[in-house]
Amino acid sequence: MVNVDEKLEPILNDVLRRNAGEHEFHQAVREVLESLGRVIAKRPRYANNALIERICEPERQIIFRVPWVNDRGQVRINRGFRVQFNSALGPYKGGIRFHPSVNVGIIKFLGFEQTFKNALTGMPIGGGKGGSDFSPRDRSDAEIMRFCQSFMTELHRHIGEYVDVPAGDIGVGGREIGYMFGQYKRLTNRYEAGVLTGKALFYGGSRARKEATGYGAAYFVRRMLQTKGHDFDGKKVVVSGSGNVAIYTMEKVIEFGGKVIACSDSNGYVVDETGIDFALVKDIKEGRRGRISEYAKIKGGHARYVEGGSIWDVPCDVAMPSATQNELTGKDAKILIKNGVMAVGEGANMPTTPEAVRFFQEAGVLFAPGKAANAGGVATSALEMQQNASRDSWTFEQTEARLAEIMHNIHDTCAATAEEYGTPGDYVLGANVAGFVRVAEAMDALGVI
Ligand code: NDP
Repeated sequence: MVNVDEKLEPILNDVLRRNAGEHEFHQAVREVLESLGRVIAKRPRYANNALIERICEPERQIIFRVPWVNDRGQVRINRGFRVQFNSALGPYKGGIRFHPSVNVGIIKFLGFEQTFKNALTGMPIGGGKGGSDFSPRDRSDAEIMRFCQSFMTELHRHIGEYVDVPAGDIGVGGREIGYMFGQYKRLTNRYEAGVLTGKALFYGGSRARKEATGYGAAYFVRRMLQTKGHDFDGKKVVVSGSGNVAIYTMEKVIEFGGKVIACSDSNGYVVDETGIDFALVKDIKEGRRGRISEYAKIKGGHARYVEGGSIWDVPCDVAMPSATQNELTGKDAKILIKNGVMAVGEGANMPTTPEAVRFFQEAGVLFAPGKAANAGGVATSALEMQQNASRDSWTFEQTEARLAEIMHNIHDTCAATAEEYGTPGDYVLGANVAGFVRVAEAMDALGVI
């Protein structure tokens, strides 16, 4: 098992002490610090000036009340968050999550990961993340709109095209971004298209942004498979989740010749050995906001729905966890390895527990960490910002070509960095080190900030 270098241990202990109870944040920091021992051995100056301590401390954390009125006229209260983690490379950039599980530790883990992910894209964007413990499930459109307007009534003070540029995440898609952009515009009296990304095309969105995270994950994993002489062609693929990331991962994997045989939502999973009908999943989840169980009801015969249970029990060649954090455990990893999995690509943020990552790496399974494999979403958000800044709109093909190039670069940077630091094929090491070095260089150049 990898351990944190003894020089970095006091930093980790300090993070654990000062952020008590924030388990996901602890997990994310520990994972990065485990990779940094080799960096400070090679470049000791990174251990100076409390650089690593500063990187582990968000620049700013905003927590606010979000009051709103439901359809029955009752006043409801949620908690809003925006953690502006690091702006050394550019304005804070990162999504907004609406899910009942959201708390400050989850937003901090996501903001911390985002900082390195954004650095890996090579684009001028810092790291941030936000959200609320609001559950959009079973809420009417009018309730969602009132909630988004109230959320933005506070958030607008802290964001801006050159300050902080939020986007979507779990529970926040095109509809929510539209309501938030509308309220921002109204409060500021500015048509500042570059303040949010993930917008619809007709008011400043980018083509291929909706598809970008899933497509990008498929591009990354295909390139990783190719290093071993494989491809998606004919491979059985299991994708967890059936939201934005999962849907477009499935679409691109199928286009690459893979056979997606299972996907899920938080209630259960469906298996269709003839190949998941991607258009039907898209219609159920995006069109009707329904449950994945409906897939089996509509398909009948060869499709089956399993309520609860673990989607990782389904044997596959490639696993792409694309729902939420810590959804693939050590126990799941053992089952996947026993069933012959050859590659795992994280579409979600930190979906694989540290124990499971270790099992995969020890078993020689190719493993693509989320901060590299799912960076296509934020990279395309940066392309959306470019289009907004130049009042331009690119074609789908042009945007996807840029995305593919960025994903291949990220892959190659991670692979080269892992090799340089002594463990070829360790994409976790490669992603952490390459992301860290870019942020550290910028921070070092900017003085003690
Ligand atoms: P969506 O809300 O569109 O979809 C989330 C999916 O995951 C749904 O199928 C949902 O099921 C399922 N899910 C959510 N929480 C749980 C849970 N606790 N247990 C089991 N299933 C769950 O979100 P996205 O697709 O946008 O995000 C998925 C992951 O990808 C997240 O980790 C996010 O941070 C990450 N990500 C997203 C990016 C983006 O561009 N959207 C960019 C980079 C990373 P149900 O419908 O039942 O809730």
